[in-house]
Amino acid sequence: MLKACEISALALKHAGSLVRPGVSTWEIDKSLGNFIKSMGAKPSFKGLYGFPGNACISVNEELIHGIPSKKRILREGDIVSVDVGAFKDGYHGDNTATFAVGEISGKARRLLEVTEQSLYEGIKRAVSGNRVGDISGAIQGYCESRGYFVPEEYFGHGVGRDLHEEPNVPNVGKPGRGPRLTPGMTLAIEPMINSTTARTRTLSDNWTVVEANGNLSAHFEHTVLITSGEPLVMTMVEHGG
Ligand code: MG
Repeated sequence: MLKACEISALALKHAGSLVRPGVSTWEIDKSLGNFIKSMGAKPSFKGLYGFPGNACISVNEELIHGIPSKKRILREGDIVSVDVGAFKDGYHGDNTATFAVGEISGKARRLLEVTEQSLYEGIKRAVSGNRVGDISGAIQGYCESRGYFVPEEYFGHGVGRDLHEEPNVPNVGKPGRGPRLTPGMTLAIEPMINSTTARTRTLSDNWTVVEANGNLSAHFEHTVLITSGEPLVMTMVEHGG
């Protein structure tokens, strides 16, 4: 599984290197698919529930599940989330980052910083003996106290032989509630954060989920192993197997 996570992390890094004004989300997706295959792995999302892309690529107000498209050209000032997983030797890794396209506004920068830090606030609580709600509450509290909004209907998940496994790892919840964390659990922790409302809406393509007011949203994700000590962030490149 460490190998799958390492490939996922390298793929995300690769995606980040392609992000620039003028590139289409289709080009990024195609290159990502080739990259993952060149590592002897398969893109986890391709065909999952019928998803057409290798990765979910979501721009600006798109929170998640954006479909890569030749028509979607990145422009200076956009933010773009790339959610990518790799399947290798029977296991999946899963990770996401939201990238800046060229120079972005201060407002967009702050959203990215808060969303990314909320992921680490969640990871800090991913400790044996804690409960899933400790992770959820940390993410929710961190974001809401900074004026952001946390949709309830999309959440992180267990990950391993299947991309989506039990337990759900919500981004909204109460500390001390939910399943107990035990060593050996592998969780995809993934805050998906909106600027101006917790509400979301799904576009007519039946995939793309957007911030209901049409304002910016961001998404960061790591696959994390619960140990008897500190959590191991398996999708950090330097920790890969
Ligand atoms: Mg995930």
